[in-house]
Amino acid sequence: MEYLSTRGSAPALDFEGVTLAGLASDGGLYLPREWPRFSPEEIRAMRGLSYADIAARVMQPFVEGSLTAGELSAICHEVYGEFGHAAVTPLVQLDERHWLLELFHGPTLAFKDVALQLLGRLFETFLDRRGERLTIVGATSGDTGSAAIRAVAGLERVEIFMLHPKGRVSEVQRRQMTTVRAPNVHNLAIEGSFDDAQAHVKRMFGDPAINGPLALGAVNSINWARLMAQVVYYFASALQLGAPDRPVAYSVPTGNFGDVFAGYVAAKMGLPVERLIVATNVNDILHRALTSGDYSAGDVTATHTPSMDIQVSSNFERLLFDCGGRDGAAMAEQMRGFETARAMQLTNAQREGAAALFTSCRADQDDTARALQWAWRQAGQVIDPHTGVGLHASLACAAKGAVEPGTPLVTLATAHPAKFREAVERAIGVRPNLPGRVGDLFAREESFTELPGDYEASRDFVLEHALARTDADPAEA
Ligand SMILES: *Cc1c(COP(=O)(O)O)cnc(C)c1O
Repeated sequence: MEYLSTRGSAPALDFEGVTLAGLASDGGLYLPREWPRFSPEEIRAMRGLSYADIAARVMQPFVEGSLTAGELSAICHEVYGEFGHAAVTPLVQLDERHWLLELFHGPTLAFKDVALQLLGRLFETFLDRRGERLTIVGATSGDTGSAAIRAVAGLERVEIFMLHPKGRVSEVQRRQMTTVRAPNVHNLAIEGSFDDAQAHVKRMFGDPAINGPLALGAVNSINWARLMAQVVYYFASALQLGAPDRPVAYSVPTGNFGDVFAGYVAAKMGLPVERLIVATNVNDILHRALTSGDYSAGDVTATHTPSMDIQVSSNFERLLFDCGGRDGAAMAEQMRGFETARAMQLTNAQREGAAALFTSCRADQDDTARALQWAWRQAGQVIDPHTGVGLHASLACAAKGAVEPGTPLVTLATAHPAKFREAVERAIGVRPNLPGRVGDLFAREESFTELPGDYEASRDFVLEHALARTDADPAEA
């Protein structure tokens, strides 16, 4: 499979190339040249398969030319064999119509493990093959960082630098990053918001002072391999609910638009996805863009759902490119305008293309708390606030008839409630326990470096420490 940049001028790459590159060299994001499509018979034939086997089938067309079917299948079995639930992403029924898709059975208790555990194995495979090293720089609002660090800790050919906004991630999230003691892991607490940290990371990719001496790689959801891995659980869950013979709708707690974009990809591949509900908190740029075409970034408001406290959603560009006729030059121009003005208007083609599948809904803190109470009282389920934003949207869309009455509505449960236990306890009076598999998280020693908010401070730290580690590595001599 060949991959193209949304901004039209970076070279086309194969799967191995896009996995290692992350962001395209023209500032765009990679997408497959065309969407592979499964027939209803092919989808039906996946019924009853294990998660790992469904994963291998769904992802095979995307890795064509870079991994054999046997290699991919071995990786899927290895990665998904280590999750805390045999079904990997089990479905839980809330009432006749509403379901939760539990995506938090990986090592760091958020859905990001599903993709990042796979990405860690892909990095290892491809870097070994090439005899190369990779320096990963990432920004995290909490969950990406912990999942990425867990996925690459101890890998010989990977160095990871994870920037998080100081004081703006939960204690569990911070500890899941800062207590991983491996020589290739570097945690940086940056003054400012997640968007500031993410802007530093994006800038490093375009800065020859660092992306030159070092080969930079990305673990944020700009990395195509992550989105690809997330397509799998749409297939696995829809199959259980009757696909391809019955449509399914999904409500997705959304920040960077990665998880919900994976649902769009599943639909493009032939899965009968009736509707995708983009659920946002009060940082609602996507809700505004999808309802009025106005994509303009405001200031970030801190909420109980920090992983969604985002104004600029990187992956939205992938949707705009695909719906807007896949014109790289026009996309580059539109994004240049956005980067200067922090605002842009969607074209008619983009608006209509998005409206065909997406609906959006915004939840404030009270809406979210009510959704947590509903899940607890109606179904005895303790859910986290991010999932609560999704469930609010799901209930609201069902109530206003935005989804056909017979269609099941699946809310993606993106984090384990114990990851955000203060907010959960405030809403329902129950304090969720951390599952045993996270061990003695609160007893372990933390290690991180605090840095001021300017770009140079972050860049120079990464450059200096990554070069020192490369020089010290006897394998590279
Ligand atoms: C990352 C994250 C989200 C947002 O997902 P995107 O792919 O960035 O839209 C939602 N909930 C939780 C718990 C997360 O960690």
